[in-house]
Amino acid sequence: MEADADQQHGPGTLDVFHPATGQVVGQVSTTSPDDVHEAVERSKRAQVEWSRKSWPERKAVLRNLWAILSSDADGWADLIRDEIGKPRSETLGEVMMGLDGIRWTVKKGHIALREEWFGAGWQRALLISGGRLGHRPLGVIGIIGTWNYPFFLNAPAIAQALAAGNGVVWKPSELALRCGQRLQAAMDRAGFPEGLVSAVYGGAEVGKALTDANIQKGVFTGGLESGRHVLQTLAGRGIPAIAELSGFDPAIVLDDAPLESTARALAWGAFVGTGQTCVAVKRIYVVGDPAPWVEKVAGIARSLRVGNPSIDVVDLGPMISRMARDRFHQRIGRAIEVGATLVCGGESLPGEGSFYAPTVLTSTIDGVEPILEGVFGPVVLIRGMPDVNSAIHAANASAFGLAASVWGKNWRRLRGVAQHLEAGQVTFNDVVTPSGNASAPFGGTKASGFGRIHGIAGLREFTTPQAILGRRAGGFRPQVFPYRPGVEKLLTWYRRFFHPSA
Ligand code: NAD
Repeated sequence: MEADADQQHGPGTLDVFHPATGQVVGQVSTTSPDDVHEAVERSKRAQVEWSRKSWPERKAVLRNLWAILSSDADGWADLIRDEIGKPRSETLGEVMMGLDGIRWTVKKGHIALREEWFGAGWQRALLISGGRLGHRPLGVIGIIGTWNYPFFLNAPAIAQALAAGNGVVWKPSELALRCGQRLQAAMDRAGFPEGLVSAVYGGAEVGKALTDANIQKGVFTGGLESGRHVLQTLAGRGIPAIAELSGFDPAIVLDDAPLESTARALAWGAFVGTGQTCVAVKRIYVVGDPAPWVEKVAGIARSLRVGNPSIDVVDLGPMISRMARDRFHQRIGRAIEVGATLVCGGESLPGEGSFYAPTVLTSTIDGVEPILEGVFGPVVLIRGMPDVNSAIHAANASAFGLAASVWGKNWRRLRGVAQHLEAGQVTFNDVVTPSGNASAPFGGTKASGFGRIHGIAGLREFTTPQAILGRRAGGFRPQVFPYRPGVEKLLTWYRRFFHPSA
């Protein structure tokens, strides 16, 4: 049977497709809304016990998870290649970055979670006490995942939520079901309390059931439109969220950037994961003449091998589905209609899978970017800019603000540009791979979302700060009835001394 990954499935089951062939390669049972709610309640019950465990106890189970996943790294690389359709050198890289994220949590999680002391400073004059800041678990975290990095975007975030003492109910993307099952199977073996972490399977309706359930925080990774539905539901119930949404990442190329190495890195940054990478380069703003850059990047794009990574050595696999490819192709067509020039690509490639030629566009007008904004596929737009300020202005003109990169030799100039860019992550002479830095908080600004995953900031997202303040039993305290004249005298002195201009 041949079908499209976006086609309907039977009630209660989801078909699993190979994106490079369109063939159905399996089926997965979906979770009913009642079972989603029950999974959350079960997780909540287990979480009470888990949250009381010491860090060494939690760490031991997380370490087991890390060991189980790392012993299966090759199997994971094969599975992601076959389910998402990416070359193995990319999928093995993804697995390494995901394992690094878990390793970071095992080794450094306690730093983010340990209590911190804060003093009272000058307020001691009023006998205000100092205290401790604790990072307490929230309860059950509901995680709705996407398909493009099914290991890297799910495993470290789940591990961090658990490390902080929470339960997790998570929904892998309906386009990465086998990866979801494999990750859940590893967690089932790791030794977490029964029911603490479980996966629910299905499409938007199962995601909706999860956002309606008794979770204490939501994590959504995906497109802007569905993200807004999820965020509205959660906000209506006063539930906080991390939103990892679409991007439209700019690269600013300064006039001293070396052509050959920079163009190679930019072409890779544009087409890695068949351009279906949230931090892929989508816009290149060249300060000066763009012609040599267009020629170089297009030359590389034309040379890329597109095909089925499960059987051939290729640089790019298929797009995730035919529907995604059709929508993508329409956007390229509209961009050309409004004034973009097609340099190469711009067409579907023959074959059973949803292959698309790596596409390079140029333009001299401002109307093309709004058409391409948030596009998810193998395309990059290259434009010349008269000066650095115009390039910064063009980069910031997008509603999105996930990541941005700046290319050139002079560090002061690079830093100068970086501080004006509206993006959750800015990189110099590098792209995509820095998102794998396990210490670096990852996430966007503006329409690309809010909240962070990874590193200390990411781990603390799964906690609520708790201030603990107090003083020794007994002893003098001015704040008691009946008020004595001395109290007002003290406050008046305090005002004069510490707030003299007030
Ligand atoms: P999508 O929004 O279609 O789906 C994402 C997830 O949300 C899926 O699990 C889906 O089942 C679920 N979902 C959809 N509608 C829902 C609803 N109304 N209620 C609850 N759940 C719902 O996105 P996708 O196709 O999986 O992913 C592609 C998008 O993800 C791209 O736009 C890409 O830029 C973005 N992305 C962002 C990041 C990031 O870290 N910022 C990372 C990867 C991908």
